[in-house]
Amino acid sequence: MLTVSKDRVLLTTITGSLPRPHWFVANLQGRPFSIAMTDIAFREQYTDAVAAYLSDQVRAGLDLLTDGDARCDCDVGGRSWFAYATERLYGLEGHHVGRGRTASSRDKVAGDIMFEVLETRVLPNVRGGVRRGPLEYARVWKVAQRLTRKPVKFGAISGQMIATGVHDEHYGSRRDLVMALAEAMNEELVELADAGCPVIQVEEPAIHGMVGVDDKEVTGEFLVEAFNREVRGLRGKAEVWCHTCWGNPAAQRTETTRRFYKHALRYFDELDVDVVTFEAADNGGDEIESFAKGLGADKKIAIGVVSHRTLQVERPEAVASLIRRALQFMPPERLIVSTDCGFGRQGMSRLHAFYKMVALVRGTNIVRQELGLPPADILAADPKGALIG
Ligand SMILES: [Zn+2]
Repeated sequence: MLTVSKDRVLLTTITGSLPRPHWFVANLQGRPFSIAMTDIAFREQYTDAVAAYLSDQVRAGLDLLTDGDARCDCDVGGRSWFAYATERLYGLEGHHVGRGRTASSRDKVAGDIMFEVLETRVLPNVRGGVRRGPLEYARVWKVAQRLTRKPVKFGAISGQMIATGVHDEHYGSRRDLVMALAEAMNEELVELADAGCPVIQVEEPAIHGMVGVDDKEVTGEFLVEAFNREVRGLRGKAEVWCHTCWGNPAAQRTETTRRFYKHALRYFDELDVDVVTFEAADNGGDEIESFAKGLGADKKIAIGVVSHRTLQVERPEAVASLIRRALQFMPPERLIVSTDCGFGRQGMSRLHAFYKMVALVRGTNIVRQELGLPPADILAADPKGALIG
């Protein structure tokens, strides 16, 4: 059900992750979050980092905030997006050094940055039946939400994406593994919703990456079934988002050649979610019309208007132009303005991420004013705060 974005026009947010402050050097290193939070240095650095992330987003004028994925360790190529979950599920043990399973068309040979990403994508083996472990998503979300009155969205990796990274020694059936992960994650997400989290974002169905590329064993229909198992019951309690993109390890696109969403849209339309997010900045917004037409009008569409792959900060006019383009195909009540993917942790600096967030809201304000809507208050763009000029 819609909570935060209900009756909201051009809601603004980011995908989730933000670059770490230089002083945030503590890591969970496999510890349960609640144990790490008894460690003075971790607790102080973690809490202050989340406070800084929230403050940056408020100063940028964003409507829906995130905790910056501060729980993720500072490891290579976004490993922790996988590892936070895989280190906290029962049935997974040890570590497997391998290149992982991926439907990506990128070659990943030595000399390519993706080779190093996969070399360090060290994740556990599946040695027994997968069960929910100390993921503690509700607790992690609460630490952020108690620092602000603004709503905080919580996002995390999907079970079917975890299945692409772990080494299965137990199930022998990819479908069984995917479904077991979906069931374990569902238990966790239901607890998160029950704790009061208003917006839950399940990150990356494997659908758009696999359909038409590697779908002999696991079909698009099955991935829809597994995704819907993972979010079962959530929409009665919270607003549910599905995030999609074309990759973010070390800020890279995981494909060698450009891929398109068009083959996946009919599957996305069957997902039991309120909002689907799409990359639109990195591909120039070419596919926005297909998003609007490919998904039923009951689903809101979030488009990325700034890229996580470039350091050039988008101009507000370019952001406004992308939003206007989207509004040719959908009413403003249906459109959410976001980022293509997360900004953390090895791609860009806090400075770049901050001004991209500000550009996102400045650009949205241009369109809001054109539509006669009140603009968001952007403290960062208030001339009264400028020391020069
Ligand atoms: Zn993404």
